[in-house]
Amino acid sequence: MEALKLSPTVENYLSLIYVLERDDEPIVGARLAELIGVTHPTVTNTLKRISRDGFITMDKSGTHLTEAGWQAARTVMRRHMLTEWMMVRMLPWSKLHLEAHNLEHAISAEAEAALLEQLGHPQTCPHGNPLPGSEAAVASWVRLTQIPPDAKVIIRRVHELAEENPQTMAFLEEKRIMPGVQATVVEILEFNETTTLHVEQHSVTLGFAVARYIFVEQQI
Ligand SMILES: [Zn+2]
Ligand SMILES: [Zn+2]
Repeated sequence: MEALKLSPTVENYLSLIYVLERDDEPIVGARLAELIGVTHPTVTNTLKRISRDGFITMDKSGTHLTEAGWQAARTVMRRHMLTEWMMVRMLPWSKLHLEAHNLEHAISAEAEAALLEQLGHPQTCPHGNPLPGSEAAVASWVRLTQIPPDAKVIIRRVHELAEENPQTMAFLEEKRIMPGVQATVVEILEFNETTTLHVEQHSVTLGFAVARYIFVEQQI
């Protein structure tokens, strides 16, 4: 059944809150303001509105999705990820996320079902993030920051929160840090908070701030 039509703004907030809550990360105004690119007071006002509409609760225990909020967020996430796949042959990998953000709000339940079918029920988006309900498909992949030096890995996932940053994504695409690509961890400098990888004949150095959003499969 099609629920009431939500505004793109509300849908964007719900999908970000979904990711934070799914990963047990605190949902705080400052973090949302940074991720969405608006001021803290704007976030506060929007959260109040979303709370009034019954999609989140806000109290001393923090901000949390209600059952209606989870349901709406799961739908937006699914449509977002299917829209990314829909454009995967037309646009650079690093630009799929932002473009999908603009289009996902216009996907109907019928179009969503057709896309799911046509795309063969993918379990992840083109960046390796799980469709709602498919979290088990990505559960064995570990953060790059947990991998020891000299280990060979296959890049599997660039987290949703990294997807939000177009500069990060363009850099990762240019350096071929994308799902399915093999890499070797060559150096980890704790004091410098950097991990250096060897990827397809070149070296790439990532700060831990980005490396922690990259998930890999370690090869034996
Ligand atoms: Zn995305
Ligand atoms: Zn994605």
